[in-house]
Amino acid sequence: MFCPKCKAEYREGFDTCVDCNLPLVDYNPEEPPAEYIKFKELLHTFNPADIAFIKSILDSHNITYYVQGENFLQLRPLVQPVGIMVDEEQFEEAKELLKDFRGRFTGLSLREGGH
Ligand SMILES: [Zn+2]
Repeated sequence: MFCPKCKAEYREGFDTCVDCNLPLVDYNPEEPPAEYIKFKELLHTFNPADIAFIKSILDSHNITYYVQGENFLQLRPLVQPVGIMVDEEQFEEAKELLKDFRGRFTGLSLREGGH
């Protein structure tokens, strides 16, 4: 068991970090399985406001994702869309989450079906 914050390792039987007062997790947060995750493009958008909103939804549902091309946002108006890449295993779930919000987005293209 590990503390997600201070990364301390605990023996079996502990479920809370005594320092951080946080529930322990049963994987090592120092070794996120990022390199084992297959990412798949969920959508892309030209609208930075959408991205912030989408990220908040994905965060609140513990979807693993990263934003492709986000760094361009600060530098200049979008000349290319920003892609939201999600864990392939969570792709369907993420798509469901965003379906309801679709009408709010502008310039957004949600991938249908997929392979
Ligand atoms: Zn801790």
